[in-house]
Amino acid sequence: MTERRIYIVGAGVSGLVAAIELEKAGYSPVILEASDHIGGRIRTLTKDAYLLDVGFQVLLTSYPEAQLYLNYETLRLRKFQPGAVVFKPGDTFAIYDPLRNPFKLLNMAFSKVGTIFDKYRMFTLTKELKEKQLEAIFLEPEITTLQYLKIRGFSDKIIKYFFKPFFKGIFLEPYLETSSRMFEFVFKMFATGHAAIPENGMGQIPKQLAANLTQTTFRLNTKVTSIEKNVIRLESGDTLTADEIILTVPPHGILPNYTGAPVTYRKVTNMYFTLQKSFMARPMIGLVPDEKYLINNLLFLTDVSKEYAKDGRALLSVSIIKDVSNETNLVSQVALELETLSGILAEHFKHIETIQVDKALPVLNNIKYVLPAHHQQWNDHLFLAGDHLLNASINGAMAAGRKAAAALLSNLHQHPV
Ligand SMILES: Cc1cc2nc3c(=O)[nH]c(=O)nc-3n(C[C@H](O)[C@H](O)[C@H](O)COP(=O)(O)OP(=O)(O)OC[C@H]3O[C@@H](n4cnc5c(N)ncnc54)[C@H](O)[C@@H]3O)c2cc1C
Repeated sequence: MTERRIYIVGAGVSGLVAAIELEKAGYSPVILEASDHIGGRIRTLTKDAYLLDVGFQVLLTSYPEAQLYLNYETLRLRKFQPGAVVFKPGDTFAIYDPLRNPFKLLNMAFSKVGTIFDKYRMFTLTKELKEKQLEAIFLEPEITTLQYLKIRGFSDKIIKYFFKPFFKGIFLEPYLETSSRMFEFVFKMFATGHAAIPENGMGQIPKQLAANLTQTTFRLNTKVTSIEKNVIRLESGDTLTADEIILTVPPHGILPNYTGAPVTYRKVTNMYFTLQKSFMARPMIGLVPDEKYLINNLLFLTDVSKEYAKDGRALLSVSIIKDVSNETNLVSQVALELETLSGILAEHFKHIETIQVDKALPVLNNIKYVLPAHHQQWNDHLFLAGDHLLNASINGAMAAGRKAAAALLSNLHQHPV
């Protein structure tokens, strides 16, 4: 086989999966990555004795693409207990498995978040989505998630106490305006699998993907500023001539004749605290439905995997969806909220880190599950990937990477050198 100069722009999971596919076909791609690390938006930092994921995120074990590319056993996935702990001051309670076995929920527990009709609707929704093909989900007309829940007859109560805080934490926006397709997709993934994190942090996911690559060259700290035809211009001023290119980042600003709008992103603030002992004592997501709080959701990562703290303390991750960029006393405000929610004095919460993720999830209309190969082809030698092409998830990013590589390979077969 003639050696082709194939460049992939971006070392996130989309680029890594594309590289895996190209290697399988016998090619040796070069990945150009602007930052100093692989994994893009999936990253785990180490600070003192703690593993800090850059933004709270989970892998849903039912993701079909993750099942194709990840070895769950060697990742040592640690599963969350399905359901959530709902924090209402003075009345905190757990609802177990509402997305999978709603009828198993005791009426008493469920009545705190919804009505008997909600329980029935939850049951029918779960049943319907478990059976619905993924492709069919992504062909449905798109409305907002909030409209969808109302059309399905869910009460204001269950929307306020369960759906809103739960899906706000996933969609990273307060109004549930994310596409109903994404809601159905995520709901189905929860209903048919588990939320999980690798024992040693989410960063193990791209690490495992990269470990499969033996013929790929990584060029870190290498920002691409433009691509014209087959010439890649780097921030350093150097140029590279490519035979084939996969671009895994939004094209705006890189492809001179790209006329689409720039992609905008949802933000999230992720704060880490430690405490002597977890006040939840179970691997479950905590939700704070009352909108006067800054905190939307919280979780003791050490209840899921002890490896997140090497000093035996409990590591708490707090997610804030509201814009807190102008808050002056964020740490003390959040510690006081934690005191109200848990009854433990604010001074016992030791602040470890605050991570502001400005580019968390792309804001997308018309989200898709897959694209026909020719839609991922920009010109004769340039192919597009990245989660912004399909849907904002690890699954979407991987699928886009796989399909871009497939389109590139099929193009090479049709036009051999
Ligand atoms: C806080 C947060 C929470 C999330 N929660 C979840 C969740 O619970 N479940 C889930 O499935 N998904 C979640 N996601 C989404 C998921 O992480 C992303 O969909 C996925 O990682 C995107 O991968 P990607 O390869 O498409 O893009 P990226 O990971 O963004 O990779 C693109 C790479 O390209 C590099 N790059 C950018 N510009 C250039 C340039 N000009 N030249 C060279 N390199 C460049 C970037 O540095 C980056 O490394 C979350 C994301 C965040 C940030």
